[in-house]
Amino acid sequence: MKTRRRPYIEQRPQDLGGGVWSVPVPIPGNPLGYTLVYAVESPAGPVLVDAGWNHPEAWEALSGGLAALGMDVASVHGVVVTHFHPDHAGLAGQVREASGAWIAMHEDDAALVRLMIEYAGDAHDAFQSDMLRRAGADPGEAREAMGGRPAPPAPPDRELRDGDLVDLPGRRLRAVHTPGHTPGHICLHLEDADRLFTGDHVLPGITPHVGIYPYDRDDIDPLGDFLQSLDRVAGFGPLDALPAHEWTFPDVAARAAEIRDHHEEKLQRLRALLAERPEPLTIWEVAAMMTWNRPWDELSPMLRGMAAGEAAAHLRALEVQGHVRRHAGVEPVRFQALDS
Ligand SMILES: [Zn+2]
Repeated sequence: MKTRRRPYIEQRPQDLGGGVWSVPVPIPGNPLGYTLVYAVESPAGPVLVDAGWNHPEAWEALSGGLAALGMDVASVHGVVVTHFHPDHAGLAGQVREASGAWIAMHEDDAALVRLMIEYAGDAHDAFQSDMLRRAGADPGEAREAMGGRPAPPAPPDRELRDGDLVDLPGRRLRAVHTPGHTPGHICLHLEDADRLFTGDHVLPGITPHVGIYPYDRDDIDPLGDFLQSLDRVAGFGPLDALPAHEWTFPDVAARAAEIRDHHEEKLQRLRALLAERPEPLTIWEVAAMMTWNRPWDELSPMLRGMAAGEAAAHLRALEVQGHVRRHAGVEPVRFQALDS
């Protein structure tokens, strides 16, 4: 049992040595507590890895934390976000306004940000209720699952691809595409100090959410991508990891292997469950059968929606591996074990 998770109130900005600092930035009302924003020194001004959640308290913590470490938020040269989620990209726009910094993210997440901006509001609600219905959620539950959501992040000025060097004068910070948690998630390898910023891809005590949206998509395999991305990071060997939540840790390869095992086991358990229930099942029915950190009946509609996304990603991975068959063309879509 990991017990090193401490609340935001006990976190402090830290000098990690080698021109790298971390600033914990709170995520108000979220059990994850905080995002670790990293600042990397350069003669042109610090470059931030992630920016934190868009909230006045978070802004206070970020600008105050940088100041406590001797940096002015107005001197930030650029913000590279590991992925588009609001606890990472949320404050990037405000940092850009205060400093004239560029914002960079992977091109696949940049494309999603453009979609989010285009489909904000009613069009998004219609898209989501449609998706929930096709997954077998009941209509009342579907309505409740569509709670408030944060505004889309600021669109980036620069788009990164795998292997690109980030604009960080005098240093070498390279983008490593690690799709899974999002299609455009990147880790960042600080080659001159041999450290890896892992975003949400590899965290020391928890595993990131890997879902598929809409749930019934059959042209992508986020969990398969995620497992490959774990292998890729494991290939870096026992580097020090600087993750976006929890705490920094040694030996990123060992942790990546552990997370891979966790998902392989989860896939095996799902195969066993499907073998016990040979009739075609909806995504919602499968999600309700799986084990979550709380019983299904106690999950809020929003958490059920996320659990269904995760169930869908596991079903899709099993389908790609040839263990599950999809009954497409029916609504809701159903899945069935192939080898039971
Ligand atoms: Zn996160």
